[in-house]
Amino acid sequence: MKAFISVDLEGLPFVVILGQLDLKGSLYQEAREIATKITLVVAEELYQNGFEQVIIADSHGPMVNLLIDNLPEYVEIIRGGFRPISMVAGVEGCDVALFLGYHAKHGTAKSTFDHTYSGSSIHKLVINGIEVSECLLNAFTAGEYNVPVILVAGDNQLLEDDVKKYTPWAETVPLKHSFSRFAARSPSMKKIEKNLKESVFRAVTNFKEGKVKPLVTENPVKIELTFRGTAFAYVADLLPFVKRVDGMKIEYIADTMTEAYNIFQLLVTAASGVLAAMKYQS
Ligand SMILES: [Zn+2]
Repeated sequence: MKAFISVDLEGLPFVVILGQLDLKGSLYQEAREIATKITLVVAEELYQNGFEQVIIADSHGPMVNLLIDNLPEYVEIIRGGFRPISMVAGVEGCDVALFLGYHAKHGTAKSTFDHTYSGSSIHKLVINGIEVSECLLNAFTAGEYNVPVILVAGDNQLLEDDVKKYTPWAETVPLKHSFSRFAARSPSMKKIEKNLKESVFRAVTNFKEGKVKPLVTENPVKIELTFRGTAFAYVADLLPFVKRVDGMKIEYIADTMTEAYNIFQLLVTAASGVLAAMKYQS
């Protein structure tokens, strides 16, 4: 059996300041160590429970966060940001998916670093009528490859808002209870490790007993995307299949979730191009 793990940073325990989130951040090393520790605890437990291969997609920012020294033999790691289906690249052919360090969508009152894929450009992403977090975007995409999400560990508000509602078969492990965008309460790492091991065991048991299923949406997929500025929507609307709904909002129809995701990635990349171009104008 083969397991897939996607790892983000914002929903990890003890990660509450911007200096933990980017390559040059003052406490970035600390966040990398937390991410690596949590990921390897989960990978090891999967291995002990019958998964002979664990594919890990490093899925935050430039996607080179996890420390690669001393990875066990059964692990393969996917690094680097420009890749189809982004945070779930590599999920094809896996039996189960687990999401670690995940956070709630943009606009959530009590979730650290609330955002949906891009804090600078995206206000709201709706897939076939459902407003999604990154977690749901990725779960729908994994579902297209017939891969069920069996465990999500991250910000408690995400678990409450999305995971329990849309993938109730998935085990949930709260890594933090947030007070705001920049503060949270977390258990000790020792307690978290214990919770993760127990939850992985339960998740794998649920999978073996057929109690989990892929989260699937209908094709074609209708995407409604609201940006955080009109310039982003203008650029998106240059594509012939994109319809401008209003100043900030566009929509498009994709044949599959994979296509929907990759177009979304293109539009986010175009938005960062807009931001870069605006800097040149100043
Ligand atoms: Zn992230």
